[in-house]
Amino acid sequence: MRDRLSVVVGDITKLEVDAIVNAANEQLLRGGGVDGAIHRAAGPELQEECRKIGGCPTGEARLTKGYRLPARHVIHTVGPVWRGGNAGEPDFLAACYRNSISIANAQGFASIAFPAISTGIYGYPADEAAAIAVKTTMDALLELGGDPEKVIFCCFSEEGAAHHRAALDSILQ
Ligand code: ADP
Repeated sequence: MRDRLSVVVGDITKLEVDAIVNAANEQLLRGGGVDGAIHRAAGPELQEECRKIGGCPTGEARLTKGYRLPARHVIHTVGPVWRGGNAGEPDFLAACYRNSISIANAQGFASIAFPAISTGIYGYPADEAAAIAVKTTMDALLELGGDPEKVIFCCFSEEGAAHHRAALDSILQ
């Protein structure tokens, strides 16, 4: 399992993978943070395809093409807004990872990269989010079998990466 999961620090829009995951909003309208960066790099066709989809409830995921991105596809998932932790946030966040991996599995994508969903504007504590990201991803890979062969946690800061490495180490020890 360890060789299928990696943690990198960097800009997810630069990754050449079968799919990058976008931390989108329920309207699937271009926003800030990683969503803004992905739309900027992909070009206006991405917003057009998102508009046709029409939206996505929190915890679910939707697939589009990657357009001008080096990634061939974008999986848009909507993380929960942090409201203190007792509003179902952990379950919604886990659903984002599970549903995104499920799409990659069904599509036969060998490689997928995740940003740290909900940990920016949506305010989810980064250490708790990383633990859910890693645990849910491992469980989904074991349960589904096959693709995706490689999962990258693409963090925007060294601190975010440290949380993901710590979560990996604590689960795999
Ligand atoms: P959310 O609304 O789900 O919190 P954000 O985009 O605000 O989404 O933040 C999610 C995470 O993505 C944050 O940790 C943020 O630092 C990170 N991030 C922002 N831009 C990029 C990027 N270009 N590549 C990777 N991660 C990014």
